[in-house]
Amino acid sequence: MPSFNKTRSTSDDPAPSPRRIPSVERLVGGASPADLAAYGRIAFTGAIRAVLAGLRAEAGPVPEAAAIRAAACRQLAAERRPSLKPVFNLTGTVLHTNLGRALLPRSAAEAVAAVMVQASNLEFDLATGARGERDDHVEALICRLTGAEAAVVVNNNAAAVLLVLNALAMRKEVVVSRGELVEIGGSFRVPDVMVRAGCRLREVGTTNRTHLRDYAEAIGPRTGLVMKVHPSNYAIAGFTAEADPEALYALCRERGVPLADDLGSGNLADLAAYGLPPEPTVRAALERADVVTFSGDKLLGAVQCGIVAGRTDLIARVRKNPLKRALRVDKMTYAALEAVLRLYLHPERLAEELPTLRLLTRDRAAITAQAERLAPAVAERLAGRAAVSVSECVSQIGSGALPVETLPSAALVLTPEAAGEPARRGAGGRCKRLAERLRDLPVPVIGRIQDDAILLDLRTLEDEAGLLDSLASLVSPPSAL
Ligand SMILES: *Cc1c(COP(=O)(O)O)cnc(C)c1O
Repeated sequence: MPSFNKTRSTSDDPAPSPRRIPSVERLVGGASPADLAAYGRIAFTGAIRAVLAGLRAEAGPVPEAAAIRAAACRQLAAERRPSLKPVFNLTGTVLHTNLGRALLPRSAAEAVAAVMVQASNLEFDLATGARGERDDHVEALICRLTGAEAAVVVNNNAAAVLLVLNALAMRKEVVVSRGELVEIGGSFRVPDVMVRAGCRLREVGTTNRTHLRDYAEAIGPRTGLVMKVHPSNYAIAGFTAEADPEALYALCRERGVPLADDLGSGNLADLAAYGLPPEPTVRAALERADVVTFSGDKLLGAVQCGIVAGRTDLIARVRKNPLKRALRVDKMTYAALEAVLRLYLHPERLAEELPTLRLLTRDRAAITAQAERLAPAVAERLAGRAAVSVSECVSQIGSGALPVETLPSAALVLTPEAAGEPARRGAGGRCKRLAERLRDLPVPVIGRIQDDAILLDLRTLEDEAGLLDSLASLVSPPSAL
């Protein structure tokens, strides 16, 4: 009994009569050939059905057929937008784990593209025609740059640590200082990784002080490995002591136990030579350890991967371990890593060619000049939303490299304006809302909020025109809602 006109009220409309909603067939049949070709008939029909389902669930008038088709096209266009996409990282953290860490040089991106669309000699020895070894593409380069005898590459440094522990110390004890039982973030905790690798953790010393004699007492017949871990994201200050690295290495050799050093951020260049805070290189670490593990996408500036480098016999055990197969990397990774490692062969040009080093070595004067130059154009695009000024700030390296060091930098400071915003929204709320708008841009702009303003640290801004373009989409006036 269709008698809904009796109880009809403005706020409580029943669903419109299904008869007034056009059929799927009619809507698809009348669609423009261009839309059908662009999305395909199957996807287009699915989107039409979804829009109609929405209309049936809602009260109110049924739109024209053209409007229903347009809604379907908008939905299809939105679905086509990639989920993973470029953003402007203006947070001031150069190696930002959540924003993809190191940026690759073009040469590396091109090397990746080349092996992606064509077959490659990934595991094929072109000289003999026999099967090859995928690590061969980078092993000699790694050895040349670090002094290691051999090297293997796996998925990331967490994988490298897991593999080293499992290959060298399964069912054995691993001696680690209590001051180095680190949590790196993303649930990578040294004690947990030990358990997963099938090792028993043998803690020595105390949080702030560990001595050579602590290691000497702990090393015994059950020891498989002594491990050092770089305190990547903290510093222990005050009354502290750590065993002398040379003496510890001598002790390990005397007892016949390998020493592994998890460096975290693998640094291949002498950073001090580029005016950066000094950080021990992989080469220096290998003078006092048998194997080292480090990331490919931290200071090294390449792709996500983990590198194990060191003594031939130990690396052979690592390579033979069945986990290596589970943790191995794709040809894209080798292509990018090889291209980046080659840049290190020309240290004079490195700070120019390697994006990570180029960004880290920018000085405050240059960044301030860039900020002053850009401020008027940015202010124009933010008119009515925020006032724009220039301020000094500090950037960080990020990803656990030199955690307590900062780099002098400069930022554009966006101070949201109250105009057009309800008074109940305080400065903090306005700031959050502006940050949301910036994240919603075609190329999202990610800054950091500080004292009710958004700081855009320009240390990491190279594509100025791209930033201004993206900000230009903020054209619509700020809404009061
Ligand atoms: C970053 C880090 C790791 C983990 O490296 P990923 O490449 O992120 O897996 C492990 N150990 C240390 C000391 C680190 O700094």
